[in-house]
Amino acid sequence: MTAENPDLRIAQAATLQPITEIARRAGIPEAALIPYGTDKAKIDIAAVPPGDGPGRLVLVTAMSPTPAGEGKSTTTVGLADAFRLLGHRTMVALREPSLGPIMGIKGGATGGGHAQVVPMEDINLHFTGDFHAIQIANNTLAALVDNHIQQGNALDIDPRRIQWKRVLDVNDRALREVVIGLGGPGQGVPREDGFDIVVASEVMAILCLATDLADLQRRIGDVVVGLTRSREPVTVRDLQVDGAITMLLKDAIRPNLVQTLGGTPALVHGGPFANIAHGCNSLVATRLATSLAEVTVTEAGFGSDLGAEKFLDIKARTGGLRPDAVVLVATVRALKMHGGVAQGDLAAEDVEAALRGAENLARHAENIRRFGLEPVIALNRFPTDTEAELDAMLGWAREQGLRAALSEVWAEGGSGGVAVAEQVLEVIAAGGGRDFHPLYDPAEGIEASLRTIATEIYGAAEVQYVDAAPAALRRLQRNGWDTLPVCVAKTQYSFSDDASRLGAPRGHTLHVRDLVPKIGAGFVVALTGSIMTMPGLPREPAALRMGVDAQGRAVGLF
Ligand code: ADP
Repeated sequence: MTAENPDLRIAQAATLQPITEIARRAGIPEAALIPYGTDKAKIDIAAVPPGDGPGRLVLVTAMSPTPAGEGKSTTTVGLADAFRLLGHRTMVALREPSLGPIMGIKGGATGGGHAQVVPMEDINLHFTGDFHAIQIANNTLAALVDNHIQQGNALDIDPRRIQWKRVLDVNDRALREVVIGLGGPGQGVPREDGFDIVVASEVMAILCLATDLADLQRRIGDVVVGLTRSREPVTVRDLQVDGAITMLLKDAIRPNLVQTLGGTPALVHGGPFANIAHGCNSLVATRLATSLAEVTVTEAGFGSDLGAEKFLDIKARTGGLRPDAVVLVATVRALKMHGGVAQGDLAAEDVEAALRGAENLARHAENIRRFGLEPVIALNRFPTDTEAELDAMLGWAREQGLRAALSEVWAEGGSGGVAVAEQVLEVIAAGGGRDFHPLYDPAEGIEASLRTIATEIYGAAEVQYVDAAPAALRRLQRNGWDTLPVCVAKTQYSFSDDASRLGAPRGHTLHVRDLVPKIGAGFVVALTGSIMTMPGLPREPAALRMGVDAQGRAVGLF
């Protein structure tokens, strides 16, 4: 990506409708609207409680991506605008962008081209402050834990067994492992600590899975911060600070209302990553949208092996959601990458490589069907794609018995998404979603859940527990936590835990190196391969091309 990326230019040129008009269009009563300026608002969920509405839910996911992303957010936004063009009352439910990757390779998360949520600059930068509130809530808890130890440690917390880390919304690899409390008795008790990125925080997961403020406080209270010297869990409720931490989140739990370039109301709220967390926007936003709109289009992060699996096994289970259709975003460039083409050569035509790489897409489609859902492939057209490549891929899908259509929302906005929208409507009309079921039953234990995900979704032959995992597994079993759903942290580039194994690998081993209970969130994180919960910046960060103009507007943001 270069500074000429047109996303910012298109977003800055748009005339936004007043947020009061967007709220009216969404059916949100004025009494529930808390405007932040004229083009953003928070929604008071006490005044308009999210419910089990009759609205249809369309989940957008993707094949295994290239480092630049395959256009899930772009497709989500454009598809919603297409449903609106077709006369359906529609809403979007998306995640909020994380500032860490914005400065790195990937850029923002507001879509692209003529399919964006706006105001793009605000949403990508500090927006309504939710991530900052989450960061402060997380770090306040960390400070309270260390203070408890400093002030006599009445709960007998073992400083070597604290699992609550500090967080920052910055890709800062230097903070992955740190020693705190140095400088003598007045500065605290020295211990090893570490930072995660905000989007990996349990507070983020809790905010995204809580049904309301009371549920948020209950979940915060359940958080296990560490163990005592006799290895008993210590919770936030034990520390008596669940009230204070919830107070810091009282505004952050309210969904944010903005609009798409096509004037569709969009709820942009919460933002866990899908490789190191559960990867979906907040449950309150999705439920609010489905209770108000005829069609809600939402997105889950990275490939379907990550975000969609977690959407269907964790979020849908927690919130009683039932998707009616799944859109699987594919691009010619990602197909060519899986077909063996090097990153630098992806723009050159290569029909054969794209067809070879289709094995990756086929695996994702097959996996969606394992949940009783019917995928619609949205072939996201890039300016470098050739007719021969696009025709070959649409022909391939037809031969495979897969629904597919070209998506041109990046270039054209909503009208470029009508072909995909029509396919989705056909799936819904045929009763799509009727047979939806999660993949595994957590009651069978975490080993069984992991085995099912690894063999059925990743194509692995077995799961191996290495490093800290065997002891962690015993601890989960001893505490009765091994019947919670599992949230796998895994590279997004491969079905395996090895980022270099592209395509559709089979017969590999999934290496689980640790199992971290997130009791407040209600799942256990399984760390696999070499995945990190604090990313780093690349050799040439996008930050090198960013700035502000004389009017104080962003430059180089994408
Ligand atoms: P994802 O949600 O899958 O990570 P995004 O929708 O954020 O992907 O898109 C990633 C980047 O690719 C954005 O900068 C976006 O503008 C760009 N992009 C997406 N679709 C297209 C397209 N069809 N043509 C050109 N650029 C695109």
